[in-house]
Amino acid sequence: MKLRYHTYDLKLRHTFTIARESSDVSTVVFVELEHDGITGYGEASPSNRYGETTDTVIEFIKKVEGDKISNPFLIERNVRYLESLSQKDYSARTAVDMAMHDWVGKALGVPLYRMWGLHPDDAPLTTFTIGIDSTEKIKKKVREAEQYPLLKIKLGGDNDEEILNAVRSETDKVLCVDANEGWSVREIALEKILWLAKNGVEFVEQPMPADQLLDTAWLLERASLPVIADENVVTLYDVPKVRGAFDGINIKLMKCGGLNAALKMIYTAKSMQMKVMMGCMVESSVAISAAAQLSPLLDYADLDGNLLITNDPFEGVTVEDGRLILPDKPGIGVTKKGGT
Ligand SMILES: [Mg+2]
Repeated sequence: MKLRYHTYDLKLRHTFTIARESSDVSTVVFVELEHDGITGYGEASPSNRYGETTDTVIEFIKKVEGDKISNPFLIERNVRYLESLSQKDYSARTAVDMAMHDWVGKALGVPLYRMWGLHPDDAPLTTFTIGIDSTEKIKKKVREAEQYPLLKIKLGGDNDEEILNAVRSETDKVLCVDANEGWSVREIALEKILWLAKNGVEFVEQPMPADQLLDTAWLLERASLPVIADENVVTLYDVPKVRGAFDGINIKLMKCGGLNAALKMIYTAKSMQMKVMMGCMVESSVAISAAAQLSPLLDYADLDGNLLITNDPFEGVTVEDGRLILPDKPGIGVTKKGGT
């Protein structure tokens, strides 16, 4: 098994701002796993929230010994090997896990969703994210997002009312709200949620800081909207910990360690009757198409990372009227633009 990698700058259509940070370019690491004449693709989009950079991703990939993954079909065993190299390095492990799954699908000649027994028509709508910006730019972004029926807005700063009013001056579409840990006083978080419920909002993601789980549980008892965990749930082992504090979880491939882990998280959450959402970082069609393979199992999808960039080197999943359309291609279903 040969593992190749290279970094790539994803250019953002608009400067992307959330409660934590702001950026114009997002650098990812593409991985290619070659074995028996088949190449599987993977991607790491490292997040500084979890202490990762492109350098830490590359450092991890260099540690992976090809003969330890000599049979990509042995996914469980190979994933355990990757975990033995590092308990963290989530996005790096995800890139290798993704390439391995892509390889297996290609070797079998089936899309991953088919391998998992899923029907592509069950894929949900995806939200389209409007980042924090000036009210004029927010209004422009909302107009540009006309083809997406479900919008996600980022709140949690000190001008939430202003942002929501700007969005509502342009559209009455259903909104999802991500506070990115922005409300640290539980009474204020509750007030915000009650206010959002009256303004056509479907759910609120991560209203309070991740280290305030007890306050979040207090909030859940009183909240009039579903509350979804993002920063509170990184890996499979975090899912049982948030029961009673959240209604559901937001799984991201880049924080959980890959498709194998995501699948386990989905069924763990379902076993506790929690809702399941999948989200993303800024990612190309490689990682988004990989996540989309699981989307028929989801209650909510926020898989728009590839829609926010202007130089995607791959094509795979597309969005029609907001719905994720899974390609009928093996593996994660992507091809390089202008090639294979
Ligand atoms: Mg989030």
